[in-house]
Amino acid sequence: MMRSRPIGVAVLGMGNVGTEVVRILLENSADLQSRVGAPLELRGVAVRDASRPRPIDPGLLTEDAAELVARDDVDLVVELMGGIYPARDLIGTALKSGKSVVTANKALIAVYTGELSTAAAENGVDLYYEAAVAGAIPVVRPLTQSLAGDTVQRVAGIVNGTTNYILSAMDETGADYDDVLAEAGRLGYAEADPTADVEGYDAASKAAILASIAFHSRVTASDVYREGISRITSDDLEDAKKFDCTVKLLSICERIRTDDGERISARVYPALIPLEHPLATVNGAFNAVVVEAENAGRLMFYGQGAGGAPTASAVLGDLVMAARNRVFHGRGPLESTYASLPVAPIDDVPTRYYVSMKVADRAGVLQQVAGEFSKRNVSIAAVRQEGAGAGARLIVVTHRASDRAQSETVAALEEMDSVIKVSSVLRLEGTDD
Ligand code: NAP
Repeated sequence: MMRSRPIGVAVLGMGNVGTEVVRILLENSADLQSRVGAPLELRGVAVRDASRPRPIDPGLLTEDAAELVARDDVDLVVELMGGIYPARDLIGTALKSGKSVVTANKALIAVYTGELSTAAAENGVDLYYEAAVAGAIPVVRPLTQSLAGDTVQRVAGIVNGTTNYILSAMDETGADYDDVLAEAGRLGYAEADPTADVEGYDAASKAAILASIAFHSRVTASDVYREGISRITSDDLEDAKKFDCTVKLLSICERIRTDDGERISARVYPALIPLEHPLATVNGAFNAVVVEAENAGRLMFYGQGAGGAPTASAVLGDLVMAARNRVFHGRGPLESTYASLPVAPIDDVPTRYYVSMKVADRAGVLQQVAGEFSKRNVSIAAVRQEGAGAGARLIVVTHRASDRAQSETVAALEEMDSVIKVSSVLRLEGTDD
């Protein structure tokens, strides 16, 4: 084994993930040393409240993260505090002083990847964030390295465990959204404020990161079209079954062709997917990402998308890579944005719609409804009529058309006398037509 001077590691944050990272660093130090080619030595751990008891030598704890990052004997910084501030400044300072950084902070990377990657490139160090997307599941590195010679067409995934837990439980039990959300909170699957998860912000950050890497372009969270799951009802899940589908919150990144040329579509919304689609069987808090590349074909990555130890596994993977690069005076791949593809607005993206409406129970309603779709060149793939009298319902599933044409049709339906209420509008994904 080659001998090298120890690599000093600073860990910022000792919560769910940081605690596990510190544990693995200390418990597996001999193996990690052999894999890196030098000992990884923990110099300190920054927390907000150093007086709280923690499973670590108290002498390693500090409330002064900036001072820890600046120490001369720190070579690598692992940021696991979360949030934008002070994480952004601490990471920037570390990179500018020649220290590689590993982070799990998707909210930060999805917005400031440009600034931080530039700092890493200019200072000859690494910025790694495998754990920022889908926890333990290796997806950033496969996209960055394993598929570097291929052309990725599409990355679609379930990348938020909280919403997948909620939708799976609604599907299995028939319970309503609010009840399942409350249960998810009790079981620790949902945070006290679940907004970032249930409204799709977390999934949108991950979509931005995946789209940037997959399409060699810079995509930030605000470029991602986003809808959450809070309006999904148990009726939606029941109705989905009638079409041999289920409902999942999907993060979708794909290359699309528009009149203006090649574009990226990056979008997050709850969608119907056929039961035979590989993502339909991903249940509970699990995550999965399906990558479609021109030559590799379809690849699927599945596993635990969150949790202390699973996420720490991805962090440690990055840490070993960054430490090895340091020992061998190398550097991992830099951010690749050469393609600079623009992101298309959702209006221009071809989508399929599923529209459920309460209608007046009288002759000719179906023709009138069909007429609104055909006026905008949206062709209908399936229609289902249910009930009679005040309970009459019509469910329409369309073929692919621009999202603008689909949403304008829905707006027109809402204005029709014979449509009492458009009760649900969802997109349909995972089909070829
Ligand atoms: P967490 O449990 O809330 O822990 C945050 C830690 O950071 C705490 O130890 C806290 O100190 C410390 N901290 C916060 N602000 C600080 C400051 N200004 N100065 C010093 N220390 C500070 O968070 P987590 O769940 O471990 O998540 C950490 C990161 O991993 C986040 O970016 C998150 O998005 C990402 N991530 C988490 C998961 C997961 O399953 N949890 C999965 C993937 C990615 P105190 O302990 O004193 O409060």
